[in-house]
Amino acid sequence: MSTAETLQQHVLPTYGRFPLVPVRGEGCRLWDDAGTSYLDFCMGIAVCSLGHCHPRLVEAIRHQAGELLHCSNLYQIRLQAELAEEINVHHVRMPGKNFFSNSGAEANDGLIKSARRFGHKRPQPDGAPRYEVITFLQSFHGRTLGAMSATGQSKIQEGFDPLLPGFRYLPFNNLAALENAIRPETAAILLEPIQGEGGVNPATPEFLRAVAELCKKHDLLLFLDEVQAGFGRCGDAMAWRMIAPEINPDGISWAKGMGGGVPIGAFWLSDRAIDDTGTALSSLMGPGSHGSTYGGNPLVCAASLAVLKEIREKGLAANALVQEGRIRETVHSWNLPIVTEVRGKGLLLGIALDPALIPTPEGKTAALVVVGKLMERGLIVPPAGPNTFRLLPPLNVTASEIDEALSIIHSVLSEP
Ligand SMILES: *Cc1c(COP(=O)(O)O)cnc(C)c1O
Repeated sequence: MSTAETLQQHVLPTYGRFPLVPVRGEGCRLWDDAGTSYLDFCMGIAVCSLGHCHPRLVEAIRHQAGELLHCSNLYQIRLQAELAEEINVHHVRMPGKNFFSNSGAEANDGLIKSARRFGHKRPQPDGAPRYEVITFLQSFHGRTLGAMSATGQSKIQEGFDPLLPGFRYLPFNNLAALENAIRPETAAILLEPIQGEGGVNPATPEFLRAVAELCKKHDLLLFLDEVQAGFGRCGDAMAWRMIAPEINPDGISWAKGMGGGVPIGAFWLSDRAIDDTGTALSSLMGPGSHGSTYGGNPLVCAASLAVLKEIREKGLAANALVQEGRIRETVHSWNLPIVTEVRGKGLLLGIALDPALIPTPEGKTAALVVVGKLMERGLIVPPAGPNTFRLLPPLNVTASEIDEALSIIHSVLSEP
């Protein structure tokens, strides 16, 4: 039986899958089971930030697999401590504390739980706890019940009600909608500095600043979902610093690129005082409040440490900016009416298409049609919403690999 048939018979059909069977990767290249090679600008959806099978990451995993794969969080895990220190000192560069999860959705669940703890500590005037988390339309925060309820897209939630209560969705980048949005029960605002799955929509500096101001004014927690955008992808260690570097989030979630391919996520809480007695926000998630059997085990921490050090030591965030410039300049120079916009920052970029210029069969989007053609010519990219495809190459991608991808894109977009 083919892989597709075996999947069909034994795996829940939650994904519409492309017919590709990847079996081996190296750097930007991916090979399928027939030996055909592709240029991979999907990278597991922004996961393989060093490309496939980077020697430093492979060596870290090999070494750790022979030392200690797993031990419980009941004990002191040295690599977890080192990874948290690397994150705080070199990437977040603010005092705070990390919790390691296995995915982005779980990391966001941790932030949601933290908002509720905060709402108990800092209740409404009548003593009732605050609990509401404001999020935004077209956001994506993950598929667990909590993260799905936080996600401002009804198609993600369809058929799963009743949702977790305590969320309200506002239009993204809409300053007027922020006015009068805060209610007595509101405890936090959660947003992606650049919405990834929702179509690559960066927050404007004015909007991000206004959200931060509103949080200060109403004693709310400011949470940033950097699951897709974080750790160098957008041109700085943290994506929000590319938009409004002066803001100070209270909580951050990550996953995807931080592990380079191993399943790891994390959420971070600030050490800042939340009351007159100096209670640190991070102290609210005390012993017994949260946990994960696998979370932050030696294997994934060794891998993530190798990835984050490589990103930092090789200046890969700066490379993301250089390659962004090359992509924007080239796409602009084509002057093709089919391309309506290039959105995003660094190497989280969306190429927006004019659907009126793309013949689209029933049940398919313009983005899917173009993504399919690009794959036939040897370039793998993921869609983002109905009319946009994403470019998510590894952060160490070279100019010649960018040029190769752009030439394939140009050939597909300029054909009649
Ligand atoms: C992918 C993603 C998530 C969910 O991460 P999982 O690891 O799939 O649970 C959450 N937020 C954002 C912004 C994402 O891109």
